[in-house]
Amino acid sequence: MHLSRPGLALTALCVAALSACSTSATSGSPSASDGLLVATTVSPITSIAASIGGDRVRIEGIVPEGTNSHTFEPEPSVAALLSTADLILVNGLKLEDPTLSLAETNKKADAKIVEIGTNVLPESDYIYDFSFPKEEGKPNPHLWTDTAYTVKYAAAIREELSALDPANAAYYAANFTAFEKKVNELDAAVRTDQQTVPQGNLKLLTYHDAYAYFAKDFGWQVIGAVQPKNFSDPNASDVAALIDQVKAQNVKTIFGSEVFPSKVLEEIGRATGATYEDSLRDDDLPGAPGEADHSWLGLMKYNYATMIKGLGGQTPSIDAVVVDSTVPDNAVYPQ
Ligand SMILES: [Zn+2]
Repeated sequence: MHLSRPGLALTALCVAALSACSTSATSGSPSASDGLLVATTVSPITSIAASIGGDRVRIEGIVPEGTNSHTFEPEPSVAALLSTADLILVNGLKLEDPTLSLAETNKKADAKIVEIGTNVLPESDYIYDFSFPKEEGKPNPHLWTDTAYTVKYAAAIREELSALDPANAAYYAANFTAFEKKVNELDAAVRTDQQTVPQGNLKLLTYHDAYAYFAKDFGWQVIGAVQPKNFSDPNASDVAALIDQVKAQNVKTIFGSEVFPSKVLEEIGRATGATYEDSLRDDDLPGAPGEADHSWLGLMKYNYATMIKGLGGQTPSIDAVVVDSTVPDNAVYPQ
């Protein structure tokens, strides 16, 4: 969190000559230090929020990058952040239940908790599968790996910020428009480039089951996910069944991620001849906080390109998407 010197000087001037000072969008905007404090959970949601809030809100993530968000238990110290936040944004869909209950216990009386994913996904569209079986009551929560839901997340965040801070509503609306344009650009690029994948190859076997909604939207087939519902490694008979499935469906590449390193995928690769690509990033943003790549856009550009190349396609359109933003990202991303 840093205040720019011009901002301080302007504040002083405003005190000296009140009549001359309006909250002009470019120079006299409220600084983030006296703006809203927004607590978020996983880094893709933190990044989407930063794309809308820019430097007019303070945003602080809770789930460290590279952590299994599904089993994450916040430290008691997170209560301090939750007790001062004006707005608490979680994915919901039962992803962050321990954080949610800590928030409910500790939040300011007038602070709002918004379960964005729960709000944008009708129950009739819940996806249950091997890693998220219906009998457990927890649907697959990964909406942010799909472009259309990402735009819905951004719109929901714009609405919440505008309601709490109407003075900056035009700023949040402009940021939303710019972000939506970028997401749609990436969406179109993926739809173009996936056509270069040989016929019948758009089949995904991932370790972590993060692409169910994306696959449905883009016409890919998720043939399986390796990780069982308790996020441990699968047992021998599950592995044997996956090996049969990979062979039967002639899957070219199986995908693992840095967040969930697994020997099991290597084993499936060896047994089937499928290539093992282990660099999907799930919700671990590329680069370092503050860099352009360290963003939802950087993350998903990388993941989509890696998947399409792994399945035998080329990615000239995705590669051409410039990862940048019209606003600075000053959010706190715990590492
Ligand atoms: Zn996940």
